[in-house]
Amino acid sequence: MPLLPLSPVRTGGKLARSSGDTLEIDGLIFEVHRSDRRKTLQITVERSGELSITAPTGVPEWDLASFVEEKLLWIHTKIEEKARLQKRAPIKEFVNGEGFLYLGKSHRLRLVENQLVDLCLKNGRFCLRASSAHRARDVFIAWYTRRALKWFSQQVAEHANRMGVQVSEVKVQDLGFRWGSFSADGRVSFHWKAILLPPRIAQYVMIHELAHAHHPDHSASFWTKVEQHLPDWRTRKSWLAENGVQVEGL
Ligand SMILES: [Zn+2]
Repeated sequence: MPLLPLSPVRTGGKLARSSGDTLEIDGLIFEVHRSDRRKTLQITVERSGELSITAPTGVPEWDLASFVEEKLLWIHTKIEEKARLQKRAPIKEFVNGEGFLYLGKSHRLRLVENQLVDLCLKNGRFCLRASSAHRARDVFIAWYTRRALKWFSQQVAEHANRMGVQVSEVKVQDLGFRWGSFSADGRVSFHWKAILLPPRIAQYVMIHELAHAHHPDHSASFWTKVEQHLPDWRTRKSWLAENGVQVEGL
């Protein structure tokens, strides 16, 4: 993303550059999101390593810059952590004996000759039709997507009312580095990979997204909402942060 035109801001000796929607500080580039609903500044380090700052409308850039500078150590630690986790993601091979996750359990793969469907889960094993092996990844993703849609639709139906949330549609798709999202028109989406997680963790993802119907940010009131419906959300959240990446190697 081009950083021009530059409007240099002096902050504690380090040069901060800004182009309106991005801010460069100490060699790091932050995407700046402004929102009328926000009360505080928040820095996010995505799993991809992308950086962003969410800020209330009207907070001047130099305030953003000094906020970032105060947090530089934390930011660098986070970036390293994410990079380390990224490297850990195993790459799957679609061969006999390879393990594939589904709702937290690993199932071994068996290539079979005669089978009507591309893929099925039978007696605890994934059976992949040998003639479909050349497009195994797509076959798996399609299977996971169908199962995820069924599982999350049931979960949402069970919990949305209780949480006072109107859901217009449940969707499952590739959400990149996000597990889920909730849009203002009541659509809740989940990454197909979320069906690889253990049920209690997938449930946390679901409650988290539904809570966004009440609070679009990650403010204290958002987490209070999550806690009302999932008192032990903290352990589930940290499990996801630590182990979530393991499900990405498909
Ligand atoms: Zn969230």
